[in-house]
Amino acid sequence: MSRKPIVGGNWKMNTTLATGADLARGVIEQAGALTGDVDVAFFVPFPYLTGIGSTLQDTGSGIALGSQDVYFEEKGAFTGEVSTSMLQDCGVKTVLAGHSERRHVIGETDELVNKKVLATLAAGMESVLCVGETLEQREAGETDAVNEKQARAGLEGVSDGQFARVTIAYEPVWAIGTGKTATPEDAQAAHEKIRAVLADLYSEDLAQACRIQYGGSVKPGNAAELFGQPDIDGGLIGGASLKADDFSAIIKAAAESKK
Ligand code: PEP
Repeated sequence: MSRKPIVGGNWKMNTTLATGADLARGVIEQAGALTGDVDVAFFVPFPYLTGIGSTLQDTGSGIALGSQDVYFEEKGAFTGEVSTSMLQDCGVKTVLAGHSERRHVIGETDELVNKKVLATLAAGMESVLCVGETLEQREAGETDAVNEKQARAGLEGVSDGQFARVTIAYEPVWAIGTGKTATPEDAQAAHEKIRAVLADLYSEDLAQACRIQYGGSVKPGNAAELFGQPDIDGGLIGGASLKADDFSAIIKAAAESKK
């Protein structure tokens, strides 16, 4: 089964409105023409969604506007939170759920992550469900069990039809922002196991159609080898997504990977 690669740039709590717009324009200039071959999204801080969304629209870019988070309630007394309809008002098409920094720094549970996935899909947007083990869990041989638990919990109640709008991001926590990367073979093995879990949850066909992207210190120098693995369908990129040259090179590697 050939799957269209998918690359996300997770800006985290970085950029200003001006430097974010420059970054977006730089990527559009260098790699904007590749969105026929690879789906690309910028996951932008909340306050800049509208501004960066305008840049994407003005340039006619096929790059999607993404949000790093969402709250599952539609409206009301939830100080500091943002709903799916607010995000859609800003032009957001895709939303991260369960990024390791939200799980391990902010303290989000599998149950909360699942509510966010369900709310995102119910609103008609795409959901990127992040899973991945800590170093301690890896050393205890629990990588596949952790991925399975997070995938099953995150997808609880997601229908077959909704699952078509889900991407899984496998991000070993020890590789995020550390410069350490899983070997292509280790990452492939984890992706293959996750796909088997998806087949068990849905069907072999739906599992084969689902994109599973890798995250954890992806750089221009290692992207091609990672994306060349049969079950790795692109990447979720943190640090390297903040440099237009690096992120564009990674998009190019993804576009080449499945040809
Ligand atoms: C991420 O935040 O999703 C990530 C993978 O970060 P980095 O590329 O910096 O490791």
